Amino acid sequence: DLEMAKQSEQVLLKLNEEGYDAFWVGGCVRDELLGRDVDDMDITTSASPEQVMELFADCIPTGLQHGTVTVRSGRYYFEVTTFRTESEYKDNRRPSEVQFVKDIKEDLQRRDFTMNALAMDRRGTIVDPFGGQVDIREERVRCVGAASERFGEDALRMLRCVRFASVFDFSIAYNTWKGLMRQRDLLQHIAMERVRTEMVKMMAGPHPLRGLDLLLHSKILEYIKAPVQGSRFNRNLLLRIGELKDNDALLRWSLLLIAGQYKKDEADALLRKWTFSNDDRLRITGVLQFDELLKTVVQNDKDQVLLRSEWISAELTCGRQAAADWLKIQLILPAGNLLSASAEASYQAILANAAEWSRSMPVHELKDLHITGENVLGLLERKGGPWLGRLMKHLLRETAIGNIANQHEALTAEVKRVAADDQA
Ligand code: ATP
Ligand code: MG
Repeated sequence: DLEMAKQSEQVLLKLNEEGYDAFWVGGCVRDELLGRDVDDMDITTSASPEQVMELFADCIPTGLQHGTVTVRSGRYYFEVTTFRTESEYKDNRRPSEVQFVKDIKEDLQRRDFTMNALAMDRRGTIVDPFGGQVDIREERVRCVGAASERFGEDALRMLRCVRFASVFDFSIAYNTWKGLMRQRDLLQHIAMERVRTEMVKMMAGPHPLRGLDLLLHSKILEYIKAPVQGSRFNRNLLLRIGELKDNDALLRWSLLLIAGQYKKDEADALLRKWTFSNDDRLRITGVLQFDELLKTVVQNDKDQVLLRSEWISAELTCGRQAAADWLKIQLILPAGNLLSASAEASYQAILANAAEWSRSMPVHELKDLHITGENVLGLLERKGGPWLGRLMKHLLRETAIGNIANQHEALTAEVKRVAADDQA
C-alpha cells in the first residue's frame, strides 16, 4: 500500500526533524523483505510518549504504560512506540514493567524472533543486530537470544514460532526447537484467545499442513489450557487441508475436526473453550452436524429420488451453508470417508448430484413458503402448539422436494389433508 508507506514516512520525517530516531520495525520490515503484503506499519522511536503526543495533534494514547501512542496521518493510523526493554515477566506471560531506553538495539533485543527484530529508517538503512536478514534468506525461525529463556518469559512465543514456520514455510533453528520442547508445558498459562489467534492465522495461511505437522510432532497442543490429543488425528485427511482455499479457512477447521474424529457436540464444546465467536463456531460445526445427519439416513444404497429427498431434508435442518461446506470438503477428500462400504454407491451419487439438488430447491426456510403459521391457525380454527411447528416443517420439506407447489392453494390443500388424516 503505497499511500500507507508515504503516510508513515511522514511520521518518521517529523520525528527525525525534531531530532529523534525513528524506524519502521518488526513485522512490516520482515514482510517487506519477504515480498509480502504489509498490512500495518509499526513505528519505534527514541522520543518519549509525551514527546510524541506533543508533536502530533491527531493521536490517541492507546498504551501509554507500554509506551505506545497511535498517530494518525492521512487516513492511516500508526502505532508509535518508544524504544523500550521489558523485565519481570509474570506467569510466563507479558512483562509487568517496561523501561524506556535510548538505543534501538536494546529495543530489538526484547523481540521474539530474529526476523521480527529488524528496523528500517527513512533512508532504507536496516538495523539488524541478530542476523534476521540471513535467517529470512535461509528461511528459518530463530529466537533472539537463548530460546528456553525467551519462551520462558512469554510462552505464547512458542505458538508464534510454529505459526511463522507454517505461514512462511520456514524451518525452525535447532536450538529454538529444543527450547520449545523444553518449555512447552508453560503453554498452560496462556489465555485461549491468544492461542486461538495464532492458530487461526496458521490455519488461514498458505501451508496449514506444515504447522499441523509441527504441532503434532511437538505435541504442544497437549499442553495448552484446552488441550487437544494429537493421536486422534487421521493424517490422510489432514494431508488434504491445503486443497481447501485459504479464503475458506473456516472449512479447514471443519476438516481438522473431522480428521480428529470429533462429533458435533464435542467439537462445539472444544470451540467454545477455544473462544471462537458464535458465528464461526456454528459455521464450523454445521458441517459436522450435516455429516452426522447424512450418515444416519444413508446407511445403505438407496435410489436417487430417495437420496435427493434425504439431502434436502438435511439441508433444511442444518442450513444451506452447512450443506455447501460439507460438499466442498467431501470433494477434496479421498473416496469413501463418509459412509459404510455398503453405502458407497449412495455416497458417489450424492457427490455427483448434490449441488444440483440444492439448486433445485424452490424454498429454503419457512419465510419462503407462501403460507404462514397464522394462515394455518385461521384455516384449522385451532390454537397454536408444537403441532404447528411440525406441520410447518412438513410443508417446508414437501415444498422443497417439489411434492407440493409453493402456492397458497396447494399449501392450504395439504394442510387440510393432513388435518383430516390426523382426525382419522
Ligand atoms: P503479524 O503478521 O501477525 O502482524 P507481527 O510479527 O507483525 O506478525 P505483531 O503481533 O503485529 O506480529 O507484533 C509486532 C512485533 O512486535 C513483532 O514483529 C515482534 O517484533 C514484536 N512482538 C510481538 N509479539 C511478541 C512477543 N510475544 N514477544 C516478543 N516480541 C513480540
Ligand atoms: Mg503486525
